[in-house]
Amino acid sequence: MYKSIAKKGAGLDGAVVESIRIEGDSIIVSARPRKRAPRCPVCGRRCDAYDRLPARRWRALDDGALKRYVEYAPTRVRCPEHGVRSEAVPWARSAASRFTRGFEDQVAWLACACSRSAVSELMRVDWHTVGGICARVAADLDARAGGSRLDGLRRIGIDETSYKKGRRYMTVVVDHDSGCVVWCAKGHGRAQLEAFADELGDERAAAVEVVTADGARWIADVVAERMPAAELAIDPFHAVSWCTNALDDLRRQAWRDARGAPRPKRRRGRPGKGEAAPADPARLVKGLRYPLLKNPGDLTERQADALGALKSLGTALWRGYLLKEAFRAVFRAGSEADAREGLARWLSWACRSRIPQFVELSRKVRRKAEGIVRSIALGVSNARVEAVNNKIKVAIRQAYGFRNTGNLMALVMLRCSPLRPSLPGREA
Ligand SMILES: [Zn+2]
Repeated sequence: MYKSIAKKGAGLDGAVVESIRIEGDSIIVSARPRKRAPRCPVCGRRCDAYDRLPARRWRALDDGALKRYVEYAPTRVRCPEHGVRSEAVPWARSAASRFTRGFEDQVAWLACACSRSAVSELMRVDWHTVGGICARVAADLDARAGGSRLDGLRRIGIDETSYKKGRRYMTVVVDHDSGCVVWCAKGHGRAQLEAFADELGDERAAAVEVVTADGARWIADVVAERMPAAELAIDPFHAVSWCTNALDDLRRQAWRDARGAPRPKRRRGRPGKGEAAPADPARLVKGLRYPLLKNPGDLTERQADALGALKSLGTALWRGYLLKEAFRAVFRAGSEADAREGLARWLSWACRSRIPQFVELSRKVRRKAEGIVRSIALGVSNARVEAVNNKIKVAIRQAYGFRNTGNLMALVMLRCSPLRPSLPGREA
Protein backbone atom coordinates (compact mmCIF):
# COMPACT_ATOMS: atom_id res chain seq x y z
CA MET A 1 0.00 0.00 0.00
CA TYR A 2 2.65 2.55 1.02
CA LYS A 3 4.56 1.66 -2.14
CA SER A 4 1.60 2.52 -4.36
CA ILE A 5 1.20 5.84 -2.51
CA ALA A 6 4.89 6.55 -3.11
CA LYS A 7 4.51 5.55 -6.75
CA LYS A 8 1.60 7.95 -7.30
CA GLY A 9 3.27 10.74 -5.37
CA ALA A 10 6.53 10.57 -7.29
CA GLY A 11 4.79 10.21 -10.69
CA LEU A 12 6.22 6.76 -11.34
CA ASP A 13 3.86 5.35 -13.97
CA GLY A 14 5.52 2.51 -15.79
CA ALA A 15 7.85 1.85 -12.84
CA VAL A 16 8.00 -0.45 -9.86
CA VAL A 17 8.76 0.92 -6.39
CA GLU A 18 11.18 -1.30 -4.52
CA SER A 19 11.69 0.55 -1.25
CA ILE A 20 11.26 3.93 0.44
CA ARG A 21 13.40 5.58 3.08
CA ILE A 22 14.02 8.95 4.67
CA GLU A 23 17.47 10.56 4.60
CA GLY A 24 17.72 13.90 6.40
CA ASP A 25 15.13 16.19 4.78
CA SER A 26 14.61 13.89 1.80
CA ILE A 27 12.47 10.91 0.88
CA ILE A 28 14.31 8.42 -1.32
CA VAL A 29 12.05 6.25 -3.47
CA SER A 30 14.03 3.38 -4.89
CA ALA A 31 12.43 2.28 -8.17
CA ARG A 32 13.05 0.55 -11.49
CA PRO A 33 11.31 0.53 -14.90
CA ARG A 34 8.52 -2.07 -14.98
CA LYS A 35 9.76 -3.48 -18.28
CA ARG A 36 12.90 -5.45 -17.65
CA ALA A 37 14.43 -5.12 -21.11
CA PRO A 38 16.34 -1.80 -21.28
CA ARG A 39 15.61 0.61 -24.10
CA CYS A 40 17.62 3.09 -26.11
CA PRO A 41 16.82 6.65 -24.90
CA VAL A 42 16.87 8.01 -28.46
CA CYS A 43 14.88 5.52 -30.56
CA GLY A 44 13.14 3.54 -27.79
CA ARG A 45 14.32 0.24 -29.25
CA ARG A 46 14.98 -2.70 -26.89
CA CYS A 47 18.70 -3.20 -26.69
CA ASP A 48 21.33 -5.43 -25.16
CA ALA A 49 22.73 -4.33 -21.83
CA TYR A 50 26.29 -3.01 -21.97
CA ASP A 51 27.03 -2.41 -18.29
CA ARG A 52 25.41 -0.99 -15.21
CA LEU A 53 26.03 2.49 -13.82
CA PRO A 54 26.08 3.27 -10.09
CA ALA A 55 22.78 4.35 -8.51
CA ARG A 56 21.72 7.94 -9.24
CA ARG A 57 18.84 10.18 -8.23
CA TRP A 58 16.18 12.17 -10.01
CA ARG A 59 14.49 14.97 -8.12
CA ALA A 60 10.70 14.47 -7.99
CA LEU A 61 7.95 16.77 -6.71
CA ASP A 62 8.31 17.55 -3.02
CA ASP A 63 6.25 15.72 -0.44
CA GLY A 64 5.18 18.61 1.75
CA ALA A 65 8.38 20.15 3.04
CA LEU A 66 10.45 17.07 2.21
CA LYS A 67 12.42 16.82 -1.00
CA ARG A 68 11.71 13.61 -2.86
CA TYR A 69 14.12 11.67 -5.05
CA VAL A 70 13.74 8.63 -7.27
CA GLU A 71 16.78 6.37 -7.03
CA TYR A 72 17.87 3.81 -9.58
CA ALA A 73 21.05 2.32 -11.02
CA PRO A 74 20.52 2.59 -14.79
CA THR A 75 21.83 0.10 -17.29
CA ARG A 76 23.85 1.30 -20.25
CA VAL A 77 22.60 -0.15 -23.51
CA ARG A 78 24.34 -0.71 -26.79
CA CYS A 79 22.00 0.50 -29.54
CA PRO A 80 22.99 -0.61 -33.05
CA GLU A 81 22.16 2.89 -34.24
CA HIS A 82 22.98 5.19 -31.31
CA GLY A 83 25.86 3.41 -29.61
CA VAL A 84 26.35 3.04 -25.85
CA ARG A 85 23.86 5.12 -23.87
CA SER A 86 22.23 5.29 -20.48
CA GLU A 87 18.85 3.52 -20.80
CA ALA A 88 15.53 5.38 -21.04
CA VAL A 89 13.61 5.53 -17.75
CA PRO A 90 9.84 6.14 -17.76
CA TRP A 91 9.91 8.90 -15.11
CA ALA A 92 12.38 11.27 -16.79
CA ARG A 93 12.49 13.02 -20.17
CA SER A 94 16.08 12.28 -20.92
CA ALA A 95 19.17 10.65 -19.55
CA ALA A 96 20.65 14.13 -19.20
CA SER A 97 17.93 15.29 -16.83
CA ARG A 98 18.27 15.06 -13.07
CA PHE A 99 14.54 15.64 -12.63
CA THR A 100 11.33 13.66 -13.12
CA ARG A 101 8.78 14.68 -15.74
CA GLY A 102 6.33 15.92 -13.12
CA PHE A 103 8.98 18.11 -11.49
CA GLU A 104 9.99 19.58 -14.85
CA ASP A 105 6.37 20.22 -15.84
CA GLN A 106 5.77 22.15 -12.65
CA VAL A 107 8.96 24.22 -13.02
CA ALA A 108 8.12 25.08 -16.66
CA TRP A 109 4.58 26.05 -15.71
CA LEU A 110 5.85 28.28 -12.91
CA ALA A 111 8.51 29.86 -15.17
CA CYS A 112 5.64 31.07 -17.37
CA ALA A 113 3.63 32.42 -14.46
CA CYS A 114 5.96 33.69 -11.71
CA SER A 115 9.10 35.69 -11.15
CA ARG A 116 12.52 34.08 -11.37
CA SER A 117 13.09 34.24 -7.64
CA ALA A 118 9.68 32.70 -6.84
CA VAL A 119 10.38 29.72 -9.12
CA SER A 120 13.87 29.14 -7.71
CA GLU A 121 12.82 29.50 -4.10
CA LEU A 122 9.66 27.44 -4.29
CA MET A 123 11.19 24.60 -6.29
CA ARG A 124 14.66 24.84 -4.70
CA VAL A 125 16.54 24.90 -8.02
CA ASP A 126 19.04 27.37 -9.51
CA TRP A 127 17.57 29.68 -12.12
CA HIS A 128 20.00 28.54 -14.82
CA THR A 129 18.83 24.96 -14.21
CA VAL A 130 15.32 26.16 -15.02
CA GLY A 131 16.62 27.01 -18.52
CA GLY A 132 17.51 23.40 -19.28
CA ILE A 133 14.16 22.25 -17.91
CA CYS A 134 12.29 24.73 -20.16
CA ALA A 135 14.21 23.43 -23.19
CA ARG A 136 13.29 19.81 -22.47
CA VAL A 137 9.63 20.58 -21.74
CA ALA A 138 9.28 22.74 -24.88
CA ALA A 139 10.91 20.08 -27.09
CA ASP A 140 8.67 17.41 -25.60
CA LEU A 141 5.47 19.45 -26.06
CA ASP A 142 6.46 20.23 -29.62
CA ALA A 143 7.22 16.59 -30.43
CA ARG A 144 3.84 15.56 -28.99
CA ALA A 145 2.07 18.22 -31.08
CA GLY A 146 3.88 16.86 -34.15
CA GLY A 147 4.91 20.30 -35.42
CA SER A 148 1.23 21.32 -35.69
CA ARG A 149 2.02 24.92 -34.65
CA LEU A 150 2.95 25.51 -38.30
CA ASP A 151 -0.38 24.19 -39.62
CA GLY A 152 -2.93 26.52 -41.17
CA LEU A 153 -0.79 29.67 -41.18
CA ARG A 154 -2.32 32.42 -43.33
CA ARG A 155 -0.94 35.72 -42.08
CA ILE A 156 2.47 35.79 -40.47
CA GLY A 157 4.96 38.36 -39.26
CA ILE A 158 8.72 37.92 -39.47
CA ASP A 159 10.65 39.80 -36.86
CA GLU A 160 14.17 40.20 -35.58
CA THR A 161 14.21 40.57 -31.84
CA SER A 162 17.25 41.56 -29.87
CA TYR A 163 18.34 40.08 -26.59
CA LYS A 164 21.40 40.37 -24.33
CA LYS A 165 20.86 44.14 -24.23
CA GLY A 166 20.58 44.44 -27.99
CA ARG A 167 23.86 42.67 -28.75
CA ARG A 168 22.33 39.47 -30.13
CA TYR A 169 19.43 38.84 -32.44
CA MET A 170 16.91 36.10 -32.93
CA THR A 171 14.35 35.58 -35.66
CA VAL A 172 10.76 35.18 -34.55
CA VAL A 173 7.76 34.21 -36.69
CA VAL A 174 4.37 35.27 -35.38
CA ASP A 175 0.94 34.05 -36.47
CA HIS A 176 -1.10 37.26 -36.80
CA ASP A 177 -4.38 35.36 -36.57
CA SER A 178 -3.72 33.65 -33.25
CA GLY A 179 -1.29 36.23 -31.83
CA CYS A 180 1.16 33.40 -31.07
CA VAL A 181 4.84 32.87 -31.78
CA VAL A 182 5.11 29.80 -34.01
CA TRP A 183 8.84 29.63 -34.72
CA CYS A 184 12.09 31.13 -33.53
CA ALA A 185 15.80 30.69 -34.19
CA LYS A 186 19.10 32.15 -33.14
CA GLY A 187 20.54 34.85 -35.39
CA HIS A 188 18.92 36.78 -38.21
CA GLY A 189 19.25 36.83 -41.93
CA ARG A 190 18.49 34.90 -45.03
CA ALA A 191 19.63 31.52 -43.65
CA GLN A 192 17.16 31.70 -40.75
CA LEU A 193 14.27 32.52 -43.02
CA GLU A 194 15.23 29.70 -45.38
CA ALA A 195 15.29 27.33 -42.40
CA PHE A 196 11.78 28.43 -41.47
CA ALA A 197 10.57 27.86 -45.04
CA ASP A 198 12.18 24.39 -45.00
CA GLU A 199 10.38 23.44 -41.82
CA LEU A 200 7.12 24.86 -43.13
CA GLY A 201 7.35 22.78 -46.32
CA ASP A 202 6.01 23.68 -49.75
CA GLU A 203 2.39 22.75 -49.10
CA ARG A 204 1.94 24.87 -45.99
CA ALA A 205 4.08 27.68 -47.47
CA ALA A 206 1.78 27.88 -50.49
CA ALA A 207 -1.17 28.64 -48.19
CA VAL A 208 0.47 31.70 -46.61
CA GLU A 209 -1.36 34.82 -47.83
CA VAL A 210 0.32 37.68 -46.00
CA VAL A 211 3.83 38.19 -44.68
CA THR A 212 4.64 41.30 -42.71
CA ALA A 213 8.21 42.32 -41.98
CA ASP A 214 10.39 45.40 -41.64
CA GLY A 215 10.80 45.86 -45.37
CA ALA A 216 14.27 44.34 -45.75
CA ARG A 217 15.18 43.30 -49.27
CA TRP A 218 16.31 39.77 -48.41
CA ILE A 219 12.99 39.02 -46.74
CA ALA A 220 11.20 40.02 -49.94
CA ASP A 221 13.46 37.70 -51.96
CA VAL A 222 12.93 34.65 -49.75
CA VAL A 223 9.19 35.24 -49.49
CA ALA A 224 8.82 35.57 -53.27
CA GLU A 225 10.77 32.37 -53.76
CA ARG A 226 9.35 30.17 -51.02
CA MET A 227 5.84 31.52 -50.30
CA PRO A 228 4.65 32.28 -53.81
CA ALA A 229 1.09 33.28 -52.91
CA ALA A 230 2.06 35.67 -50.12
CA GLU A 231 1.71 39.43 -50.27
CA LEU A 232 4.45 41.30 -48.46
CA ALA A 233 3.58 44.23 -46.23
CA ILE A 234 5.38 46.41 -43.71
CA ASP A 235 4.65 45.37 -40.17
CA PRO A 236 2.87 48.31 -38.48
CA PHE A 237 4.89 47.62 -35.36
CA HIS A 238 8.12 48.14 -37.27
CA ALA A 239 6.94 51.30 -38.93
CA VAL A 240 5.93 52.71 -35.55
CA SER A 241 9.30 51.73 -34.12
CA TRP A 242 11.09 53.79 -36.81
CA CYS A 243 9.03 56.68 -35.57
CA THR A 244 9.78 56.11 -31.88
CA ASN A 245 13.49 55.85 -32.74
CA ALA A 246 13.35 59.23 -34.49
CA LEU A 247 11.59 60.71 -31.48
CA ASP A 248 14.14 59.26 -29.07
CA ASP A 249 16.93 60.73 -31.14
CA LEU A 250 15.20 64.11 -31.03
CA ARG A 251 14.82 63.80 -27.24
CA ARG A 252 18.53 63.11 -26.79
CA GLN A 253 19.34 66.14 -28.87
CA ALA A 254 16.94 68.30 -26.86
CA TRP A 255 18.59 67.05 -23.66
CA ARG A 256 22.05 67.97 -24.95
CA ASP A 257 20.82 71.41 -26.05
CA ALA A 258 19.02 72.07 -22.77
CA ARG A 259 22.04 71.09 -20.70
CA GLY A 260 24.13 73.68 -22.55
CA ALA A 261 21.52 76.44 -22.13
CA PRO A 262 21.46 78.75 -19.04
CA ARG A 263 18.96 77.74 -16.35
CA PRO A 264 15.83 79.90 -16.15
CA LYS A 265 15.92 82.40 -13.27
CA ARG A 266 13.39 81.92 -10.50
CA ARG A 267 11.45 85.00 -9.55
CA ARG A 268 11.84 86.12 -5.96
CA GLY A 269 9.39 84.63 -3.49
CA ARG A 270 7.03 81.75 -3.94
CA PRO A 271 5.02 81.50 -7.12
CA GLY A 272 1.48 82.84 -6.66
CA LYS A 273 -1.57 80.62 -6.75
CA GLY A 274 -2.18 79.04 -10.14
CA GLU A 275 1.19 80.26 -11.29
CA ALA A 276 3.69 77.48 -11.95
CA ALA A 277 7.40 77.89 -11.35
CA PRO A 278 9.24 78.22 -14.68
CA ALA A 279 10.15 74.74 -15.90
CA ASP A 280 13.81 73.83 -16.11
CA PRO A 281 14.01 72.38 -19.65
CA ALA A 282 17.01 70.17 -18.89
CA ARG A 283 15.30 68.53 -15.93
CA LEU A 284 12.09 68.20 -17.84
CA VAL A 285 13.64 66.50 -20.87
CA LYS A 286 15.59 64.11 -18.70
CA GLY A 287 12.44 62.55 -17.29
CA LEU A 288 10.73 62.25 -20.65
CA ARG A 289 12.27 59.15 -22.15
CA TYR A 290 9.48 56.75 -21.24
CA PRO A 291 6.54 59.16 -21.32
CA LEU A 292 7.40 60.08 -24.92
CA LEU A 293 7.73 56.52 -26.14
CA LYS A 294 4.86 54.93 -24.25
CA ASN A 295 1.35 54.76 -25.62
CA PRO A 296 -0.70 57.55 -24.03
CA GLY A 297 -3.10 55.03 -22.48
CA ASP A 298 -0.26 53.39 -20.52
CA LEU A 299 1.13 56.55 -18.92
CA THR A 300 1.30 56.96 -15.17
CA GLU A 301 -0.06 60.17 -13.72
CA ARG A 302 3.43 61.56 -13.20
CA GLN A 303 4.45 60.75 -16.76
CA ALA A 304 1.31 62.42 -18.09
CA ASP A 305 2.18 65.52 -16.02
CA ALA A 306 5.69 65.59 -17.49
CA LEU A 307 4.22 65.50 -20.99
CA GLY A 308 1.82 68.29 -20.03
CA ALA A 309 4.79 70.44 -19.01
CA LEU A 310 6.47 69.72 -22.33
CA LYS A 311 3.30 70.73 -24.16
CA SER A 312 3.33 74.12 -22.43
CA LEU A 313 6.87 74.72 -23.72
CA GLY A 314 5.68 73.93 -27.26
CA THR A 315 9.14 72.87 -28.44
CA ALA A 316 10.21 70.71 -31.37
CA LEU A 317 10.18 67.76 -28.99
CA TRP A 318 6.49 68.27 -28.31
CA ARG A 319 5.78 68.52 -32.04
CA GLY A 320 7.80 65.32 -32.53
CA TYR A 321 5.63 63.62 -29.96
CA LEU A 322 2.49 64.73 -31.78
CA LEU A 323 3.96 63.40 -35.04
CA LYS A 324 4.59 60.03 -33.42
CA GLU A 325 1.05 59.79 -32.07
CA ALA A 326 -0.36 60.90 -35.43
CA PHE A 327 1.65 58.18 -37.12
CA ARG A 328 0.22 55.56 -34.77
CA ALA A 329 -3.25 56.88 -35.54
CA VAL A 330 -2.70 56.14 -39.26
CA PHE A 331 -2.73 52.44 -38.38
CA ARG A 332 -6.14 52.71 -36.79
CA ALA A 333 -7.67 53.62 -40.15
CA GLY A 334 -10.81 51.67 -40.94
CA SER A 335 -10.19 51.29 -44.66
CA GLU A 336 -7.45 51.35 -47.23
CA ALA A 337 -8.65 54.72 -48.53
CA ASP A 338 -8.56 56.24 -45.04
CA ALA A 339 -5.10 54.84 -44.48
CA ARG A 340 -3.83 56.28 -47.74
CA GLU A 341 -5.28 59.66 -46.92
CA GLY A 342 -4.01 59.59 -43.33
CA LEU A 343 -0.53 58.63 -44.42
CA ALA A 344 -0.44 61.35 -47.10
CA ARG A 345 -1.47 63.94 -44.52
CA TRP A 346 1.15 62.70 -42.09
CA LEU A 347 3.85 62.77 -44.78
CA SER A 348 3.15 66.36 -45.73
CA TRP A 349 3.23 67.40 -42.06
CA ALA A 350 6.43 65.49 -41.31
CA CYS A 351 8.41 66.70 -44.32
CA ARG A 352 7.56 70.33 -43.48
CA SER A 353 8.12 69.93 -39.75
CA ARG A 354 11.67 71.33 -39.91
CA ILE A 355 12.66 68.63 -37.45
CA PRO A 356 15.60 66.88 -39.18
CA GLN A 357 14.83 63.48 -37.64
CA PHE A 358 11.27 63.56 -38.90
CA VAL A 359 12.12 65.02 -42.30
CA GLU A 360 14.46 62.10 -42.80
CA LEU A 361 11.90 59.63 -41.50
CA SER A 362 9.31 61.03 -43.89
CA ARG A 363 11.59 60.09 -46.81
CA LYS A 364 11.81 56.51 -45.60
CA VAL A 365 8.08 56.30 -44.97
CA ARG A 366 7.39 57.68 -48.43
CA ARG A 367 9.57 54.97 -49.96
CA LYS A 368 7.79 52.27 -47.99
CA ALA A 369 4.30 53.79 -48.16
CA GLU A 370 2.86 51.05 -50.38
CA GLY A 371 3.91 48.32 -47.96
CA ILE A 372 2.53 50.24 -44.99
CA VAL A 373 -0.85 50.84 -46.61
CA ARG A 374 -1.00 47.20 -47.66
CA SER A 375 -0.66 45.96 -44.09
CA ILE A 376 -3.61 48.15 -43.10
CA ALA A 377 -5.63 46.98 -46.11
CA LEU A 378 -4.86 43.37 -45.20
CA GLY A 379 -6.18 43.91 -41.72
CA VAL A 380 -3.02 43.28 -39.72
CA SER A 381 -3.80 45.01 -36.48
CA ASN A 382 -1.03 47.04 -34.92
CA ALA A 383 -2.45 46.56 -31.42
CA ARG A 384 -2.21 42.81 -31.76
CA VAL A 385 1.31 42.88 -33.18
CA GLU A 386 2.35 45.22 -30.36
CA ALA A 387 0.80 42.90 -27.79
CA VAL A 388 2.69 39.82 -29.01
CA ASN A 389 5.94 41.79 -29.26
CA ASN A 390 5.53 42.92 -25.69
CA LYS A 391 4.88 39.33 -24.63
CA ILE A 392 8.13 38.30 -26.34
CA LYS A 393 10.01 41.08 -24.56
CA VAL A 394 8.65 39.96 -21.20
CA ALA A 395 9.72 36.37 -21.95
CA ILE A 396 13.24 37.52 -22.89
CA ARG A 397 13.48 39.52 -19.69
CA GLN A 398 12.28 36.49 -17.72
CA ALA A 399 14.99 34.34 -19.34
CA TYR A 400 17.72 36.71 -18.12
CA GLY A 401 20.45 34.56 -16.54
CA PHE A 402 19.94 31.50 -18.76
CA ARG A 403 23.34 30.48 -20.04
CA ASN A 404 22.14 29.09 -23.32
CA THR A 405 20.29 30.80 -26.15
CA GLY A 406 18.35 27.62 -26.93
CA ASN A 407 16.93 27.76 -23.42
CA LEU A 408 15.95 31.40 -23.85
CA MET A 409 14.09 30.55 -27.05
CA ALA A 410 12.41 27.61 -25.31
CA LEU A 411 11.02 29.97 -22.69
CA VAL A 412 9.83 32.33 -25.44
CA MET A 413 8.01 29.37 -27.03
CA LEU A 414 6.51 28.22 -23.72
CA ARG A 415 5.21 31.70 -22.93
CA CYS A 416 4.17 32.92 -26.37
CA SER A 417 3.43 29.90 -28.60
CA PRO A 418 0.46 27.51 -28.56
CA LEU A 419 2.65 25.00 -26.64
CA ARG A 420 1.59 25.68 -23.07
CA PRO A 421 3.05 23.60 -20.28
CA SER A 422 0.44 22.06 -18.01
CA LEU A 423 0.76 21.24 -14.33
CA PRO A 424 1.55 17.59 -13.55
CA GLY A 425 -1.53 15.38 -13.51
CA ARG A 426 -3.80 18.09 -14.96
CA GLU A 427 -3.44 17.58 -18.70
CA ALA A 428 -6.83 18.20 -20.27
ZN1 LIG B 1 18.74 3.91 -30.52
